[in-house]
Formats: sequence, C-alpha cells, structure tokens
Amino acid sequence: MRYSGFRVIAEALTGHKGWKPVWRDPDPKPDYDYIIIGGGGHGLATAYYLAKEFGQARIAVLEKGYLGGGNVGRNTTIIRSNYLLDGNEPFYEFSLKLWEGLEQDFNYNAMVSQRGIINLIHTDAQRDAATRRGNAMILHGADARLLSRDEVRQMYPWLNFDNARFPIKGALMQPRGGTVRHDAVAWGYARGADQRGVDLIQNCEVTGMRIENGRIKGVETTRGYIGAKKVGVAVAGSSSKVMAHAGMRLPIESHVLQAFVSEGLKPLIDGVMTFGAGHFYVSQSDKGGLVFGGDIDGYNSYAQRGNLPVIEDVAEGGMALMPAIGRVRLLRTWGGIMDMSMDGSPIIDKTHIEGLYFNGGWCYGGFKATPASGWCFAHLLAKDESHITARAYRFDRFLKGLMIDEKGQGATPNLH
Ligand SMILES: Cc1cc2nc3c(=O)[nH]c(=O)nc-3n(C[C@H](O)[C@H](O)[C@H](O)COP(=O)(O)OP(=O)(O)OC[C@H]3O[C@@H](n4cnc5c(N)ncnc54)[C@H](O)[C@@H]3O)c2cc1C
Repeated sequence: MRYSGFRVIAEALTGHKGWKPVWRDPDPKPDYDYIIIGGGGHGLATAYYLAKEFGQARIAVLEKGYLGGGNVGRNTTIIRSNYLLDGNEPFYEFSLKLWEGLEQDFNYNAMVSQRGIINLIHTDAQRDAATRRGNAMILHGADARLLSRDEVRQMYPWLNFDNARFPIKGALMQPRGGTVRHDAVAWGYARGADQRGVDLIQNCEVTGMRIENGRIKGVETTRGYIGAKKVGVAVAGSSSKVMAHAGMRLPIESHVLQAFVSEGLKPLIDGVMTFGAGHFYVSQSDKGGLVFGGDIDGYNSYAQRGNLPVIEDVAEGGMALMPAIGRVRLLRTWGGIMDMSMDGSPIIDKTHIEGLYFNGGWCYGGFKATPASGWCFAHLLAKDESHITARAYRFDRFLKGLMIDEKGQGATPNLH
C-alpha cells in the first residue's frame, strides 16, 4: 500500500474503511538467515536496510514487547550532527543526511522537522569550545553558525539573559538539526521492512543463545527455539542482559533517563534549545507541549520510570533559563533505559562469537543515530566489514585506549 494525497482524500470520502494494518503478525519460522533482536528504531532500521539496500532475505526481528515500545517511542525526538570528534561527526552527519530523505525513502510521514538547534553559551571559554566544535562540524561537511547574544535575543527574547550565574553570551546553532515524530520512525521502518518480507515477531523475548564451537546457531525465545546463520543484537538498555546470554560482559551500564511534557501552550519555541550551564534541553511539540529533559538518574536501573530529585534538577535548569515556565503545568513524565557506554560513544561491531554482532551503547543520543545505525549495522551483518563512518565504533577501542569521549569525562558512564 503506497500513501498519497489522493489516497488520503479517497479514504476520507469513504469513511476510512480501506486502511489495512501496515505490517503482518507472523509466527516465527524454524530458522532464518538473519535474526535481529530488538524491535526498536535501530533493530527495525537494520532489518529495513538489510532487505532494501543490501539485498538480503529470510530476516526476522524479535521483539519482547511491542514494536516501538522501548526508547524509540520514549525519547525527546531531537536530531542533530553537532559532534566534535572524528570518530563521531561523520557518522552522525551520515545519519542526518539519511533523515533528510527518509520520508520519501519509506513513503511514510515521520514529521522530520529541521527547525534548528541551538546550544547556549554562558562563558568566554564555552564560546571558544563552541567555535572549535562548529569548525569541526563544517570541516566534516555539516552546517554550523555561531550566534551572538543579540541574535539569540532576537529569537527568544524571554530567555534570562542576565542570570547572575549563567548569563547568555551567544549560541552555537545547527540549522539542519531539529525533531522527528519518534514512534512514526519505528512504524515507517516496520512497514518498509514488512513490505520487503521481513518477519516482525512481537511478544517474543530472547531468553538464551545456542552457541556451538564458537559459532551462533540460534536463539531460545518465549516462542520456542529459532535457528539463524547470523544474529544482530540491538536492544539498547537491555544490552548487558541479552549479551550475558552469550557470556559477554559489556563496557555498558543501564540508567534511567526521564522526559517531560507540559500542558499545551501557544507557540513559544520554534526550534530546539539546550542550556549550556546545566543539563536541560527543550523544544515545543506540534500540539503545543514543551518537551524537555535533563540528566539521567545517577544509579543503575532497568526501571522505565525515574525519581523526584532528577525532576527537581531538570525543573531548576528550566527555571534558570526561562523563568516564564514557572507557572506551566507538567502533563506527563516517563523514563527509558539508557545503554550508557564507558566513553559515551556507541559500539557497532562483531563479537568473538562467529555470527553474533552487537549494536549498542547509545547513551542519551541514539534516536538521531537511528538511520545510520541501521544502515551501518546492516552493512556489517551483510558484508562482515564496518561501514566507513562506523569504523571507530569497535569493542577493542576499550582495550587499546582509543576512547571517543566527546565530554572528556573518562570511564564514568553516568556522566556522559
Ligand atoms: C527520555 C529519553 C529521551 C531521549 N532523547 C533523545 C533525543 O532527544 N535524541 C536522541 O538522539 N536520542 C534520545 N534518546 C535516546 C534514544 O531514544 C535511544 O538511544 C534509542 O532509541 C535506542 O535505540 P532503539 O530505538 O533501538 O531502542 P529501543 O526502542 O529501546 O529498542 C530496543 C528494543 O529491544 C527490546 N528487547 C530488549 N530485550 C529483549 C529481548 N531479550 N528479546 C527481544 N527484544 C528485547 C526492547 O523491548 C526494545 O523494544 C532518549 C532516550 C530517552 C529514554
């Protein structure tokens, strides 16, 4: 079924009776060439690109709950490629380019909105760092602009420019950054993968792996054993649990990250904005709610809900930046489980077990990576070699000390 303006009008005139479910609900087959564990954004994108770009078939995605019920449907929807380091910037810029053509590619409205992102600057040293970052972005073919204090004031006059501790001195802007309707991304990839014959199997939790003579043979699931030539794991916050089935301990910790949505307001912020002196980022949804977030809850957890101290901290950040929100009512909060790696950057790599591949360690930032992550993981699965933009995302960087540490925090996953 292709979507078109004509089809929408025709359905509207005939009572919307012609729409059909956009993916099948198949039972698992006894075996596949490829099994992808995890029906989040990354798993679905991997299956889609495996079938579409790399011509592979006999693919299944196994999801323990429902498609899009994990972080892909829980994030604050920000996309950008404003990274500093060589290992990261080409990959995230590749992802942003894929976002730019995604809706045409899978013929699905994911509401990709390049409304621009600004990172506020509060000190002279921060301006130096932002200039360096902007130059690095431009050298990698991305877009970046340094905004003066007056330019920021023209955009958002209601910000607290003269806060005694955190005066606003300017911003680094990436005009091509923005937001995307997160769960529509999962649905678009799911639909595209299903159309190409991928079996999307929900309510199917992987509970074990069958490994013989150093080679993966298949997976044990709540719906029985399923054989596979190759298995790709893309389970985000559950990475450590799933890879433990293969006897692997990962350089990853799981933490909760919370998100917040306010009551609907009149148009206030037309882009995405991040505070440079505390952890607070905000945009406004098309329904008018302020969508914002901050730091992770500092302790390890597999719960999809967070705690009040972090809510208080995020609210303080928001108030320091935009005191006008003091009287705005909060509508909803929720949490997702983040796969926080030791250096804050992801892993897309083979494992020491033949036929078993891993994708994870996305920390706060895996939503924007979804298209490139899927593409690069599919490349690795199909060709057994890393995509050129993902070559740095190897396990052995932790052995060799080749960290990709954007923040310079060291091996402290809760601080990345
Ligand atoms: C509150 C919040 C805000 C965020 N904001 C942003 C943002 O603005 N921008 C950004 O770039 N990133 C953001 N992120 C991060 C981003 O959402 C994640 O990094 C990314 O979605 C992770 O990849 P995924 O979509 O594949 O994960 P998920 O959607 O979590 O997919 C993993 C899937 O694996 C399944 N699974 C787990 N165990 C098993 C098993 N044993 N068997 C079968 N299936 C299993 C899970 O049920 C889940 O559906 C945010 C995250 C949160 C929680």
